[in-house]
Amino acid sequence: MKFYIHNRGDDLSRNLSATFKQRAEQKGLVWHEESPDIVVSIGGDGTLLQAFHKYVSQIGHVAFVGVHTGHLGFYADWKPNGIDKLIDCMTKTNLSPNVLVEYPVLEVEANSDRGAETFFALNEVTLKGIGTTLVAQLHINDEQFETFRGDGICISTPSGSTAYNKGLGGAIIHPSIEAIQITEIASINNRVYRTLGSPIVLPKHHHSDIYPVENKKIMLSIDHIHKVYDSLHSLRARVADFKVKFVRYRAFPFWNRVRDAFIGRHEE
Ligand code: NAP
Repeated sequence: MKFYIHNRGDDLSRNLSATFKQRAEQKGLVWHEESPDIVVSIGGDGTLLQAFHKYVSQIGHVAFVGVHTGHLGFYADWKPNGIDKLIDCMTKTNLSPNVLVEYPVLEVEANSDRGAETFFALNEVTLKGIGTTLVAQLHINDEQFETFRGDGICISTPSGSTAYNKGLGGAIIHPSIEAIQITEIASINNRVYRTLGSPIVLPKHHHSDIYPVENKKIMLSIDHIHKVYDSLHSLRARVADFKVKFVRYRAFPFWNRVRDAFIGRHEE
């Protein structure tokens, strides 16, 4: 089993990474940054987003697992004191489908003066105006749906539904559902600009195109990565054809993670 550790870079995460690496190698696991079987992310959910983007081109061959060095995360759901158990599981268990869960990924194609570019997001893609509101036509399945004006538009994956999307009033979607969710960021509604006002969930076989008004600076954010466009012609969003794999050596149901992260356990 080949592994790599991506850590957040703070002292706690770096020290835990060093300990993990030493103990894992003692147990016969092989450090391999170029093509690991498992990427261990040590830090927070944001650290796992970085790990995902580092290995997105090899996504079919890599599985991820997250250890948190702060608070419990959605992707980073192992505690630091569980690393020996995690190493033990990595040593003894093959990466067969019964220890893997797969989550949908968002694919976007941006068309601009730079040509066509394809990006993949684990959490979400957002489109925002820079120094001005975003004005854009939103199409669903090649039909004009609404004219948006406001701060921006967020398109999220099911596993990203607990992140920015939640702050925008979007629904939490179980990651077994292959879908993307479109939420508005502070839309302006009047007679000219009218939006639905509710989050929209698109199934896998649907797509949405966003056509911003030309010649306005736009910020396209893919998870934690931000790109500025002087003139973005269109953005097509859909569920990607591939999924991202996470190692699940022990059960920790999604709804338990949602409860533990946002509500807390009810003490009897
Ligand atoms: P950041 O601003 O440093 O952290 C954003 C926060 O979102 C962190 O607490 C992070 O958890 C948490 N997070 C990330 N993915 C999550 C998920 N799937 N479910 C629940 N919480 C999640 O930025 P960053 O670390 O580079 O992460 C980028 C992400 O920030 C974006 O993908 C976006 O979802 C989120 N964001 C949220 C808002 C908002 O809610 N208003 C605004 C902008 C961006 P950890 O502390 O465990 O890393």
